[in-house]
Amino acid sequence: MKYYSLGKQSPEVSFKEATLRGIAPDRGLYFPKQIPEFPPVFWKNLGGRDFNEVANELMQAFTGASIPAPQLRQILAKTLSFEFPLRQLTAHISVLELFHGPTMAFKDVGATFMAGCLGYFSEQTDRKTVVLVATSGDTGGAVARGFLNVPGVEVVILYPKDKVSDIQERQLTTLGANIRALRVSGTFDTCQAMVKQAFQDPVLRENQELTSANSINVARWLPQMLYYVRALQQLPGETTEPVFSVPSGNFGNLCAGMLASHMGMPCGQFIAATNTNDTVPRFMKTLDYQPKPAIPTLSNAMDVADPSNFIRIQELFQQDFPNMASELTATSFTDAQTLEALQELFADFGYIADPHGAVGYLGLKQYLKTHPEARGIFLETAHPIKFRETVESCLETRLELPEQIRGLLDREKVFTDISTYEELRDALR
Ligand SMILES: *Cc1c(COP(=O)(O)O)cnc(C)c1O
Repeated sequence: MKYYSLGKQSPEVSFKEATLRGIAPDRGLYFPKQIPEFPPVFWKNLGGRDFNEVANELMQAFTGASIPAPQLRQILAKTLSFEFPLRQLTAHISVLELFHGPTMAFKDVGATFMAGCLGYFSEQTDRKTVVLVATSGDTGGAVARGFLNVPGVEVVILYPKDKVSDIQERQLTTLGANIRALRVSGTFDTCQAMVKQAFQDPVLRENQELTSANSINVARWLPQMLYYVRALQQLPGETTEPVFSVPSGNFGNLCAGMLASHMGMPCGQFIAATNTNDTVPRFMKTLDYQPKPAIPTLSNAMDVADPSNFIRIQELFQQDFPNMASELTATSFTDAQTLEALQELFADFGYIADPHGAVGYLGLKQYLKTHPEARGIFLETAHPIKFRETVESCLETRLELPEQIRGLLDREKVFTDISTYEELRDALR
């Protein structure tokens, strides 16, 4: 499988090169040259098959010759070492829980898969690999955890000061070893812009591989398609194709689901549910792509004004807007609506969601108003404990501390404050 740059000015590369580069020299995102199609029988027989086998087959189509079969198998076994349970709330609403991994956010899958790939690639070179990542909350922790002690790889995480939760900050500042955290005065978009600039800086690439672990990286983005496949596996004998409501920030998760749909996966609509950072919902209405400055919300991992992966969704539809609009609905919700949704889920179903999952639930509920016969799945992308203060005060209840979080609370946070690109550059040299 080859990957081309959406900037169209850089040569095609293998999966390995796309992963090592993160972003193409022309600043474009990499995109698979063909979308591999899997026949209806593959999807029909999904229910009875081992998930790891299915995952292996799907990912092999994207990693190609870059990763030999036994290594891919090993990487996926580690990546998929936890459950993705689908829980039915009503005949029309189910929730796919993606938070049972080591950092309790869905990004564990992409981060662990990418760490496995880079670990394998670094065995083949003497050059040090530096992974640079901007986080709006959950990416940093998942990446830190996924890459901890991977030989030959050093990780530098940028996060916006005062805009991530205490637990999120602990997850990315307390591991030490090959993980460094930089606290940036600014927003997530500031962090992302600094990371993008670093990739254009030839000096930083002289003695080291420099790559990104954001969802712009194909190795983080692509394995997310497996969530949707796992959801389908848990719907045996269903004849109605499910609608997926995806709480979206940088739009990587949603884009991976839509990619799976283009590979033949049977499903209905996709719903992009955002918080008040509504660039895409506005675009879907007006055809005018106008990012505004990011607004902090309760679902902070989605506080993204200019979502990197939306361009990939457009490419998937070859820039055919009506076609895209026939498969994608986008809506945004306020913090007040998010809190109401948390309360409703708790009161009606005894279900404790996190603010991101609540936004996904709102997206699905809104869709069901006009499509009452649909059968929907909303993605619950983080464990509520990661947004403990919000959830506990909103529901007037106490959350139990899961084992993954308990150990973090008495560790010391270690980070360096930075505010300019020059400071980042110094930190990387
Ligand atoms: C990152 C994140 C999202 C948004 O996912 P994207 O792929 O960036 O759209 C949603 N919820 C949580 C909890 C996240 O960490």
